[in-house]
Amino acid sequence: MNLTVLYRGPLASCNYDCPYCPFAKRHDPPELLRADRAALTRFTGWVAATTDVRLSVLFTPWGEGLTRSWYREAMVTLSHLPHVERVVIQTNLAARVDWLADADPRSAALWTTFHPGQIDRQQFLRRCARLGELGVRYSVGVVGLPEHLDEARALRAALPEDVYLWVNAADGRRYDAAEEATWTGLDPHFGYSVRPHLSLDRPCHAGESAISVLGDGTVRRCHFIPTPIGNLYDGSWRAALRPRLCSNAICDCHIGYVHLKPLGLRDVFAGGVLERVPAAWPLPR
Ligand code: SF4
Ligand code: SF4
Repeated sequence: MNLTVLYRGPLASCNYDCPYCPFAKRHDPPELLRADRAALTRFTGWVAATTDVRLSVLFTPWGEGLTRSWYREAMVTLSHLPHVERVVIQTNLAARVDWLADADPRSAALWTTFHPGQIDRQQFLRRCARLGELGVRYSVGVVGLPEHLDEARALRAALPEDVYLWVNAADGRRYDAAEEATWTGLDPHFGYSVRPHLSLDRPCHAGESAISVLGDGTVRRCHFIPTPIGNLYDGSWRAALRPRLCSNAICDCHIGYVHLKPLGLRDVFAGGVLERVPAAWPLPR
């Protein structure tokens, strides 16, 4: 049995100040950080003990996790477990990445996002270069805002060809045909992001072979449908897994619609679904 687990604990703070983000420069009080650490420790214990399932784990903190030692330690620990296929975290790459030398690069990977205005492009590229030296798989993304275009182009030009750069459509923004073509020039898969996907009553792997887990172990089918379907720590999640139809009108986040069956994105991103690396990359010229 294969299961993808998206984990999100209570942490909701970030060292960056992105103007488009509600978690910008938010601070978590010490008790929340302690609770986040305890919840993550419990979760990694569950992963380690659940050896009858082939697990792929994506940490999707509201804020930035890799500035916290417990997320770095979890990445390293889980990467060495034989039943863990992949362990990935979404990160702004603000923190140094040398600790990944202790992780198994066959399973540890990063979903990184470049936030112009928050980190110098050259510094970001140095982090990417270090990931390359360490043999760690990663994708790089940007939010498709007009003010990011020049930086995104420069980043694409400077990244190694075999590193995929994705572009996310900015929340609530409509792209005309010319803008869509511009961003598609940087990310040939931008078309999946540019408009929300109609998902109501369509079959989705979420709740069947992918689940979302909160810090207290609450299991939901995905991050976007709040109804719990079980709990990780009482074992009730097992009986909850079954084929399901989406109950939301739309799905507009990659970590959701990558599991929407009619889109076939698990094939497009085969071998790199969680770190968002397409199977065929670089594309043949
Ligand atoms: S790096 Fe991410 S979490 Fe932090 S402020 Fe920017 S968008 Fe928000
Ligand atoms: S399509 Fe999106 S919102 Fe619907 S079940 Fe799948 S992941 Fe959740």
